[in-house]
Amino acid sequence: MKSRYPALLLCALTILGNLSAWAEKPKPELIEVPVSIRYVAQSHWTEAEVLARFNNAAWIFRQSCGIQLNLQGVVRVEDPNLQDINGGFNDQGIKDKIALKESGPAAKGVTLLYVRKVYHEENTFPLVAQAYVLGDRRSPGNLYLEEFPRVQKAHGIAVLSEHYSTSHPQFATYFHSPNLTPYDVDAHELGHLLLNSTDHDKFPGNLMSINGAERTFKQGQCERMRTYHEREHVLKRQLEQDYSRYMRNSTRRLRARPW
Ligand SMILES: [Zn+2]
Repeated sequence: MKSRYPALLLCALTILGNLSAWAEKPKPELIEVPVSIRYVAQSHWTEAEVLARFNNAAWIFRQSCGIQLNLQGVVRVEDPNLQDINGGFNDQGIKDKIALKESGPAAKGVTLLYVRKVYHEENTFPLVAQAYVLGDRRSPGNLYLEEFPRVQKAHGIAVLSEHYSTSHPQFATYFHSPNLTPYDVDAHELGHLLLNSTDHDKFPGNLMSINGAERTFKQGQCERMRTYHEREHVLKRQLEQDYSRYMRNSTRRLRARPW
């Protein structure tokens, strides 16, 4: 009997040791990502709503991934020509998004544009939340290498039409996901921007799945988004080189846009 006690004591000490190691395990360092916001005046959007939405997205990113979204400023845009914008990829579409982003002080980081309507040369239905990212061989985007000089300033922008506003009377008709709040659309679009990908997760259970069943990101998505700044740096440098090469020797036809 006697010889058991040291073994039990050792066992208890080991458990305590493991518990304290677990408690002291440092949380991963917060990665900061700047986010700018523009919203249009003649719409259902209000400053209170876009701020509440930002806070919701910031909570999701911090809890899920240890990413701190840093708000760089909210600008209310009065310009009557920018209340509805072209969400497409033609010259007008690219011009509208950049003009709205460049309203007010320089927008830093990824940018969310809250507009009244988003019309689209390839879409007839009015509901649009869309993120714009440069694609390359390694990541699927909707802004293409072949058009790099024309589209590069639209990279890192997401638009949200007022149909996503909680004060829009038709909102309930459009939003059907029982586990998500209406605010979570913004976090999903930010996910596209930080992942630099237009892809959706095929399996339900995270914000990037097609039906967005949970208010979380998967570990792999978090790891990728936490390297956002490094990947952006490499991507832009790589695209510039790829584009020069493309101009020198390519006779390839433009790809069809996967819309
Ligand atoms: Zn999406």
